[in-house]
Amino acid sequence: MTHATRTDGPRGGLTATPTYLVMLGAPGAGKGTQSLRLAERLELLPVSTGDLFRAALREGTPLATEVRKYVEKGVLVPDPVTLRVVEERLRQPDALRGVVLDGFPRTRVQAEALDGQLTRLGARVAAALYIEVDTPELVRRLSGRRVCTGPAQHVYHLDSRPPRVADVCDIDGSTLEQRPDDRAETIQARLARQLPPMYEVVDHYANAGVLHAVAGDRPVDDVTAELLRLADRATGRS
Ligand SMILES: [Zn+2]
Repeated sequence: MTHATRTDGPRGGLTATPTYLVMLGAPGAGKGTQSLRLAERLELLPVSTGDLFRAALREGTPLATEVRKYVEKGVLVPDPVTLRVVEERLRQPDALRGVVLDGFPRTRVQAEALDGQLTRLGARVAAALYIEVDTPELVRRLSGRRVCTGPAQHVYHLDSRPPRVADVCDIDGSTLEQRPDDRAETIQARLARQLPPMYEVVDHYANAGVLHAVAGDRPVDDVTAELLRLADRATGRS
């Protein structure tokens, strides 16, 4: 860790080198929430590929049109296109202080390509912050959604918004059901596809010496505090 004295404060003034942080975690680990919190506290730009792809649906640039072809079909945006989208975003003025990347890189190939992009900008990933949650806990969290069978289809979650009476809608008394997509078996199958590429990205950053893992099976605020501590240390802010 470097503790070099900096003439420019991290919370104001010009930062010589932008700070690039990568957030890693399985679906259900709380990565999206934590990325936004970290970006706000560190005054960095949160960059989520999900948001960038959604934004592309409203834009008319050639690159956005290209992205739209895939998003509208519901297929994964191929690596070369994703890389162009990210690279373009990183070059915008509001990204010059640095960014917190969420949802990217998703594969080892993307991680290597990002390294190449940052090298061209004279920078590197300062820290990859990995929110670790074991698979049974992910399945439990992701399978907690219950939907009201009444016409309004009120949505509940066993953790964050439980109904007052089990399996009964608070609002209209209808029975709550678990949708097929939210069943444990479906989620396990989805995780079995999604986790191996993520582990490769985790390994990539471990090999680069910038991986920091945080236990994600704790209260959200505790996870944020730990992530901030690690990010500050990795970027020489403390
Ligand atoms: Zn209802």
